Amino acid sequence: MTASAANDGRRLIDVALPIPLFRAFTYEVKGGTRHPVAAGSRVVVPVRGGREVGYCLGESDGAALGSVVPKAVIDVPDAEPAFRPDLLAVCRWMSEYYVAPLGLVLRAALPAALGARKRPEPAVKTRRVVCLAKALETLMERDRAFARAPQQRALYELLESAGGAAPVEWAVERLSCSDAVVTGLVKRGLATIEREGVARDPFDRRERKRATPHEPTPAQRAAIDALAAAAPGETFLLRGITGSGKTLVYLELLQQVLARGQTAIVLVPEIALTPQTVDRFRAVFGDDVAVLHSGLSDGERYDAWRALRAGHKRIAVGARSAVFAPLDRLGAIVVDEEHEATYKQGESPRYHAREVAIVRAREAGAVCVLGSATPSLESWVNATTGKYRLLTLPDRVGGGALPAVEVVDLRAGANAPRRTAAERAVRGILSAPLEHALNERLARGEQSILLLNRRGYSAFVQCTSCEWVAACPRCSISLTYHRAPERLVCHYCLHQEALHARCPQCGADTLRQRGLGTQQVERLVAEQLPSARIARMDVDTTSGKWAHADILDRVGQGDVDILLGTQMIAKGLDFPNVTLVGVIDADVGINLPDFRASERTFQLLSQVAGRAGRGPKGGRVIIQTRLPSHHAVRCAVTHDYEAFVAEELPGRQSPAWPPTVRLANVVFSGTEERAVLELAEGAAAWFATALAGPPAGAVEVIGPAPCPIERIKERWRWHLVLRGTHAGAVTRLARRFLTSFEVPGRADLRVSFDRDPVALL
Ligand code: ADP
Ligand code: ZN
Ligand code: ZN
Repeated sequence: MTASAANDGRRLIDVALPIPLFRAFTYEVKGGTRHPVAAGSRVVVPVRGGREVGYCLGESDGAALGSVVPKAVIDVPDAEPAFRPDLLAVCRWMSEYYVAPLGLVLRAALPAALGARKRPEPAVKTRRVVCLAKALETLMERDRAFARAPQQRALYELLESAGGAAPVEWAVERLSCSDAVVTGLVKRGLATIEREGVARDPFDRRERKRATPHEPTPAQRAAIDALAAAAPGETFLLRGITGSGKTLVYLELLQQVLARGQTAIVLVPEIALTPQTVDRFRAVFGDDVAVLHSGLSDGERYDAWRALRAGHKRIAVGARSAVFAPLDRLGAIVVDEEHEATYKQGESPRYHAREVAIVRAREAGAVCVLGSATPSLESWVNATTGKYRLLTLPDRVGGGALPAVEVVDLRAGANAPRRTAAERAVRGILSAPLEHALNERLARGEQSILLLNRRGYSAFVQCTSCEWVAACPRCSISLTYHRAPERLVCHYCLHQEALHARCPQCGADTLRQRGLGTQQVERLVAEQLPSARIARMDVDTTSGKWAHADILDRVGQGDVDILLGTQMIAKGLDFPNVTLVGVIDADVGINLPDFRASERTFQLLSQVAGRAGRGPKGGRVIIQTRLPSHHAVRCAVTHDYEAFVAEELPGRQSPAWPPTVRLANVVFSGTEERAVLELAEGAAAWFATALAGPPAGAVEVIGPAPCPIERIKERWRWHLVLRGTHAGAVTRLARRFLTSFEVPGRADLRVSFDRDPVALL
């Protein structure tokens, strides 16, 4: 790059800093920097007496400086720019579209180690891991062994559900217990302590089988050919029912891309939840694949980044941030399960990786493939209006039928759950047909999956005299009851407290547990089906770095009869011996106060139903519900995506919700409710004035109103929703607001901006 010098011979550059300001800063480049500076280079610059890593945007004419004397760049740490031009362009688009300062976007697009003020020094640490040494198979054995040691039992069960081992530090923290509990379990010969290197890459621990892909079916072949003939930058929506073989289409596309000397990115919703998908890429492409997962340390992530940057690895597989993988000559980006909400980043910059992938593919002239059995309505509308090209895999590979789906209406007396003595404390959960089907599977040596939607099913504590509910003192949600060890926990802020003996409101001793958590369901199922080997998969059992894969490996090896879990079990699993899927209550998601509640429920039910009957034995799905006629349930029963869309879309027209309109959620928060309300009202007034002036485009401002979850971590929350038919109008208005609206000088008040929110909670 040629240095365009200012009049006086100085070389000036524009630098984006990772601070919440929407402007670039001008610095001078003096001779003798360690490496040359170009657009996309990291530069270390002085900022308010300290130093900061910024990003060179290009040469500057110094016009913005006025009479200010520019400060000099302190260091240029990299030989080559961290951002190549196409990725820099993508980040500029993100900054514009998501209305986020460019410096923050650029920082988010690099591995954390590169944003640190000093050079990364990846250290290899070791840690203590506690491993189960002896199995206590039955509940009775356990009750005996732990009669006087409930904390040891909690630890034992935690380890078991984490796949047999977990770091000591993690287990102790999770159970809020002391090291003595671990020592106690070890002393009794039930566990051992080992050391392991923290930096070890869990994917390297996994066995790798080399494999050549199958011969494509005619439908797969048609999709593969269409992708091979794609125009540069074209976007495809690959809709294939569960089990239709979408992964093979991706694999074939990637082979073509590599054969052309190009590279590729594969995005999956969450690496830990999709080890089988990841294994399939590694089986075919071996060492060409860099797996970017959340378990990597900063140093490991940086190593993977460098390997991709240098071209030593040609395929990046990872969750949403892998969309920024520094690959040159990009030929394809695959977004698997494109409808998943995990592609949306929860903090600023609040980007959606699917949309970034489309823009990046366009910049790089690569093909972008969005795959799903149940596409988001946004992508579906784009595919049916010709913005994307639609590819369809209508059948299961090998002619397998989709499983038969039955609905058990929980309202009908006949199907109401049986109540046995063991169930008296909590409501029963298995209807007679579901219990019968589970028993059948057990007798035949087949496996089952039980889905429990955690959100609605969290157990809470309520007073039956005055209806008081135990709630978090810091957030506006009820506390979740946990049995082992017994306590109440808030799942937003992790506040914990002991159980009350009496109702704090009326003083009666009529506090009762309501609803069910996964732990209780596990216990109830274990009591109803005492011979079943049950594995539980939820946030509590899977915080360990590699816990998901360990649980799934046990299922794959046939060591588990019933896999019980939350939404996370619905994704990407492929076990031929699973012949039954039970949904314990389909309704909990439908009742959430969010415009996507029905879509989410339909997707969840379809996905989880797709887990059954993947082998020659076929499969059966049983959905328990009190809303059998709701379209989210009905269309999942008939596996009819298009029927669902036909009923759902009109409901998004009036009142208008995406994809009919574009949304942005502006959230105001702070520690004092009054101040937050005033801030939200001030913002509403600002918008009213702005919209009364010269036409800003058709944007409507709704609110202010309290957020459905009014308080999180002691912060009150109010919001305004911007709604418009034109994306550009929403962008312009939001940008004006975020750069000119003045937040009163209270340190605790914050405004956050969420473009295309996946939820308004
Ligand atoms: P999806 O992701 O669409 O749900 P998968 O890609 O997981 O489906 O494929 C389902 C199963 O079918 C996998 O076990 C896969 O190995 C197998 N499969 C896919 N394509 C073929 C093919 N052309 N021939 C034989 N088996 C195939
Ligand atoms: Zn009471
Ligand atoms: Zn809380």
